[in-house]
Amino acid sequence: MNSCKIMKTSEFFTKNVNPFLLGAFFSRYVFVNDNKYIVAYSSFYKSPKITVPNLDLKEYYAIYRDILNEESGDYPYWQLKKDISKDIKLPKAKIFFILENDLNILPDKFYNKLYGKLYNDCDWIFSDDLTEDKKRFIRGYMELRGSIDRSRNFISQDYFYNSKFEISKGRILIERLNIPNYYVNFNFRELQSQYIDGIMRNTQYRINLKWYLKNIGIMNEYKKDLYEIGTGLTHTKKEGNVWYFDYEDEVVSRESNLIDERINYYLNKIFGKNLSNKEIVKMRQELEFDATPNSVRDNTLVKLIQLNYPDECVACKDDYDISDRSFKKKNSDRYYFEVHHVISIGKDKELDDENNLVKLCPTCHDLLKRGRASEKEQKDLIRKIFKNAPNTLEFAKNFFNTDDYEEIVQKTYQNLK
Ligand SMILES: [Zn+2]
Repeated sequence: MNSCKIMKTSEFFTKNVNPFLLGAFFSRYVFVNDNKYIVAYSSFYKSPKITVPNLDLKEYYAIYRDILNEESGDYPYWQLKKDISKDIKLPKAKIFFILENDLNILPDKFYNKLYGKLYNDCDWIFSDDLTEDKKRFIRGYMELRGSIDRSRNFISQDYFYNSKFEISKGRILIERLNIPNYYVNFNFRELQSQYIDGIMRNTQYRINLKWYLKNIGIMNEYKKDLYEIGTGLTHTKKEGNVWYFDYEDEVVSRESNLIDERINYYLNKIFGKNLSNKEIVKMRQELEFDATPNSVRDNTLVKLIQLNYPDECVACKDDYDISDRSFKKKNSDRYYFEVHHVISIGKDKELDDENNLVKLCPTCHDLLKRGRASEKEQKDLIRKIFKNAPNTLEFAKNFFNTDDYEEIVQKTYQNLK
């Protein structure tokens, strides 16, 4: 058997890659050997508390590798550490998928390219339903590195990020992958109670475990056994490699703290800032992280932007008075604004990211509809948006994977709806 199974990065970005594999790399990748290889991985360890009879963990790693390969479609390249050349400096884990970086992508660009591939090549991501493809992506994203916390009812993973753009990636599970927002939760390390005591843990990304086991299921038989022994429950079905547990929906407790609120708050007030413990304590109180409210707030990102962004049109605020461009809302002192996607990508596709959304007056919003004004006028408006809302320009740079300002304006213009 050929023991060297390595995919080229050029293939990864041009071929039709199984959503499971995309989820695995979207979740976590590590550059090794001076950026020569890019590695995704999976691991699980023996439970110190529960013994599973009739399951030899050593043998089971080989079975688990075969399952990951079956789930990976045309590229069954998952390998155990012992079968991989010692020359490749692997991170601590058991099972690996290796890309050879033949495109010489730099670490900070890999994620952007992957994000672009998802939105440009993967039609399944725009489906309204929780399809099998979406479930595959979620398994790659969550189960490979996720750990199960029965007592707190989470499947959780350590969450790594270097940029604001990467922090936002957790949103994709809600906005595109049909996980209800009240079942997803971020525990940013600065907001954990231990942080104040000087104990540094990683940021955790968590999904309600019961929802997960019912809708996504788990592939790992060992984890399935631990769960059954720990809870006294038995799985309700197995399809392919996936075990499911059924729950009544109303039994599942809903998480407080809307994820968008948490992410926005974190991005605006905490990320990249040097905060004192006193400030952190104040913020925890502000967010009611220590309280346990059980109400579910029904806010969408668009509503949050309507409410929280300043009442000004980022396209024409330097040229007009708002009273000439909009009107006051009924029974309100506030002017009417519309929320605009700076980058649109096709008819029914929206990029609902905070950094892709701006408030516009109705006049500018209308002028930015395809064909509604001349190319020059529309490009001028796009430039004004980029100038007045620089976060949208950063987002566009990442999305189009270029720093060329005119190319970004051109592409944004071409994508107007
Ligand atoms: Zn305007």
